[in-house]
Amino acid sequence: MKILKRIMMMGFIALIVMLTKPVMALELSSFTDVPNFSVVIGENMYNLDYANDPTNESLISAAIVKNKGDVFVKTDDSGWIKNSDGTKVSKDSVDVSTIKFNNGAAITTAVKVLDTPEIVAEMEKARSLAGDDKSLLLTQLLQSRDLDVNGVPTVAPPVHIAEGSEVPTEPTKLFDNLYYVGGTNVGSFIITTTDGYIMIDAGYDYSPETMILPGMKKLGLDPAKIKYILITHAGPDHVGGAKYFQDNYGTKIVMSQEEWAVAPTKKDANGVNTWPTQDIIGTDGQKLTLGDTAITIVKTPRQVNGGGLSYIAPVFDNGEPHMFATYGNTNVVGTLADKVVYRDSIKHFLSYTDNAKVDVVISDHPFADGSLEKMEELRNLKPGEPNPFVLGQERSRRFFELLDQCAVILTGRQAAGLDETGTKRIDNTSSK
Ligand SMILES: [Zn+2]
Repeated sequence: MKILKRIMMMGFIALIVMLTKPVMALELSSFTDVPNFSVVIGENMYNLDYANDPTNESLISAAIVKNKGDVFVKTDDSGWIKNSDGTKVSKDSVDVSTIKFNNGAAITTAVKVLDTPEIVAEMEKARSLAGDDKSLLLTQLLQSRDLDVNGVPTVAPPVHIAEGSEVPTEPTKLFDNLYYVGGTNVGSFIITTTDGYIMIDAGYDYSPETMILPGMKKLGLDPAKIKYILITHAGPDHVGGAKYFQDNYGTKIVMSQEEWAVAPTKKDANGVNTWPTQDIIGTDGQKLTLGDTAITIVKTPRQVNGGGLSYIAPVFDNGEPHMFATYGNTNVVGTLADKVVYRDSIKHFLSYTDNAKVDVVISDHPFADGSLEKMEELRNLKPGEPNPFVLGQERSRRFFELLDQCAVILTGRQAAGLDETGTKRIDNTSSK
């Protein structure tokens, strides 16, 4: 421990007296980022208290052995003291960008969020709307593009989201008359009635054969009984499988007018139209009835001149009636004007969910709202335990308020010339 002793000897006692300021959060991109009086040994940095603490001696001597170079002590803003000979050397003698550990802990560079105080306040509102509710929290983290300490989005779609690589999840009976079949990223709801089934969304073009039909078989459901498929919005992950059912079972497809309008132009790489032929136009406030079940269709576009539908249906949990809603256009996208449309749609849908006393809200992207975990819970439910999908009216309402609040945050960032995460400046004029 000769070297460390030498560190101690070299006026450190005097320096300790001066070390009254706490060490600040670290972003080591330049010499000035290193707190004064730091001891630097290779990729390690220590403050004097830490370096002089005998309990850290073995850790520091290991660092000295590992690092065959010198030990440097930052005295003030003029440079370093080279420990081996006690000379003062220039700022450039240490490459601070190679320092990886501070007092034995890995340095994580704090990401600078450029949010204005107003946006920060809106984010706080979103966080308090989510509270400690796990599914609301997931929604908040995802939809407000909240970042973790490393600047990585806290919740991201599963890595297998790419076309063709969706992973099936266990098909699950959610309520007496409501089932989920599909993948961990996206899937379909099947509502059973006295006169056949209504399916909401059809997954990717490969989903029917890889996930929906095998899932239905496992649940004892007959695909020939699907009379209608209601499309939430015409993304390839929702409308992709619709044509399969139209072609093979004569299933009627319901979609918004704006989305039917673009259907004829939707072709795959071989020039084959992958979309269903135009069927039923779903309109705002329409009731679609099959057997004993009436589903309410609400138009909820998220972009100017956009389409998109959301649905409300009665469900039963061991005979107990509940109202289920799924919102089809959750992701906040587009221009500032689009975000106004998004917020209007949420407000519009809320008037319907309030009226219907919706107490169950489930996303067709089950990773996004904790549904994967809830389905697992449900499959292992013991008698008497409550169905985790029943949120109650207050929490269900809060889900939509939260979506709106996330749109407020993304609107604020866009208006302030920031990207969605609030960490980069963007050219607002060309942003979409
Ligand atoms: Zn989607």
